Amino acid sequence: MNSVYCAKVDIARSFRVVKSNEVKFEVEDVIVHHVNVKRRSCSCRYWQIDDFPCVHAVTSIISYGGSVYSFIDSAFTVSSFSQSYPHSIHPIANIEMPMEIPEDCDIMPPDVRRGPGRLKRKRIESTGASRRRIH
Ligand SMILES: [Zn+2]
Repeated sequence: MNSVYCAKVDIARSFRVVKSNEVKFEVEDVIVHHVNVKRRSCSCRYWQIDDFPCVHAVTSIISYGGSVYSFIDSAFTVSSFSQSYPHSIHPIANIEMPMEIPEDCDIMPPDVRRGPGRLKRKRIESTGASRRRIH
């Protein structure tokens, strides 16, 4: 999580931020993005999708002196990761499979037979083939 955060902070330094009110910001990237820190949303929609503040949100949060960590979803924390795997995963012994392969055991390919009827001579064109133009 920290490497993602640090990368976003590095990118966020280059943006210009205009504060609209206490929770809304305009961040000037290639286009202007609208960030609402109370709703945890940005017009680029990465924050809504990832539940991790996008670069525009990071810029906004830092500009008013907030902590970005308080806006990161708890699913990205180490404690959540630890809770996902509290039990150990035991190896499964494979008793039914032999450990050694006998030398006289040859695996042959399956029998392949041609289906009934004639082979097709005309190619089935794809759906977009008739619309293509060759210049
Ligand atoms: Zn954004």
